[in-house]
Amino acid sequence: MIRYFDNNATTQMERDLAELMTNLCEEEYANPNSMHSFGVKQARRLEEARERVARCLSVDPREIFFTSCATETINWILRSSVFFRGKRKKIVTTSIEHKAVLNTLRDLKTISNIEYHAVSPESDGIVSVDRLLNEVDDETFLVSVMAANNVTGSIQPYEEIGKALRERGVLYHVDAVQTIGKIPFNLQKGFCDYASFSAHKFHGPKGVGIAFVKRGTPIKPFITGGGQERGMRAGTQNVPGALVTSIAMQRAVENMDTSSRRLRDFQQQIVESVKALGGAVNTPENSVSNTVNASFAGIRSEVLVNALSEEGVYLGTSSACSSRSDGGQYVLDEMGIDPSLASCSIRISMSRFTTEEDVAVLIEKLKKTVPLLKF
Ligand code: PLP
Repeated sequence: MIRYFDNNATTQMERDLAELMTNLCEEEYANPNSMHSFGVKQARRLEEARERVARCLSVDPREIFFTSCATETINWILRSSVFFRGKRKKIVTTSIEHKAVLNTLRDLKTISNIEYHAVSPESDGIVSVDRLLNEVDDETFLVSVMAANNVTGSIQPYEEIGKALRERGVLYHVDAVQTIGKIPFNLQKGFCDYASFSAHKFHGPKGVGIAFVKRGTPIKPFITGGGQERGMRAGTQNVPGALVTSIAMQRAVENMDTSSRRLRDFQQQIVESVKALGGAVNTPENSVSNTVNASFAGIRSEVLVNALSEEGVYLGTSSACSSRSDGGQYVLDEMGIDPSLASCSIRISMSRFTTEEDVAVLIEKLKKTVPLLKF
C-alpha cells in the first residue's frame, strides 16, 4: 500500500472527480466556442466553473481566468507587468519564491531593461515585512510574494505587505499555489492585484491553472489567437479540467477547517518523532499544517527518500517542480541553514486524504531507517 507524503508536489484526484472528467471528455466534448447548442452547453459549463472558483475566492467571475498551470499564470502576470511599468525599472520579490517566479524574473532582467531585488527571509524562513518594504522605492512597479512556501510550509506576511502597498501605486502579485485547502485565502479584502493557483495542488487535475486579475488592473494578453478567455489567453478552453477544478477547489475550501486541524495534530506527531530521532526541523511554527521539512545530519536527502520509497513511503526532498538536482535546497540556504544540513533535508507533505495510519507507518519507517543509515 502506498503512503504518499509528497502533496506539495502534487495531489491525488478523488475517484468521482476523475470519473466526471472522463465522462465529460467522452460525452461532452464540444468546443465551448462553437455556435451549436452542444458547444453552448460547454460554454455554460465553463462559466459555471468560473463562478464556482470566484465564489471560493470571494471575487467577481470576470476576475478569474483559466490557464494551463500556475507557472503559466505567473509568467503571464510578471511579463505583463513589465509592459505597464512606464519609466520604473524595479521588481521586489523574495529569494524563496518558486522557480516559476525567480527564473521568470531572471529572464525578464535579460530581455527587458528591468532589475529585481529578492529579499532573503529571516532564519525561520519568513520574510520581514519591514525589510521587504524598505526595498520598495519610486523605481518599483511590481512586488511578487508567495503566500505559503512549498519547501518549508512557512506562511509569509502576504496580506500585511499588500495592505502597506495599497497607497503606493505598485502592482502586487501573490503566488497562492500552496494555500488552497490549507489556509483561508480570501481575496475580498482586496490586498492584491493578481494571484496564481494550480489545480493539481488541491486534488484537481494537472494542466489547469487559475489567474486572479483584479478588475481595473492592467493586464496584457499572454497567448494571442482566437480570443478565448476574454481575449487574454487564447486557445480552446479545457472545459472538463476547469469544471472539475472548480469542484475540487470548493471541496478543498469547505473541508479546510476540519482538515487543517487534523493535519496540525499529525504535523506535531511527525515533528516530535523527527526530534526524538535527532533530526532538525526546518519548518517554522507559523506554517501550513500539512508540511514538515526536516534534516537528519549525515543522511543525504536522496538516500533517505530512496530508502523509504523501497518501503512504499513517498516523500519529497524539496520542490518536485524544480529540476531533481537542485530542488528547493536554495530555500534552506537562504534561511542560513548549513549547506551540509540543507542537503540532508526531506519534505513531508500531507493532504486531507492522509490518514492516522499513514502517519503511524511513516513514523515507524523513519524510526527503522534513520538509525540504519546513520551508521
Ligand atoms: N508556485 C508554488 C509555490 C509552487 O509550489 C508551485 C509548484 O510546486 C508552482 C508555483 C508551480 O505550479 P505548477 O507546477 O502547477 O505550474
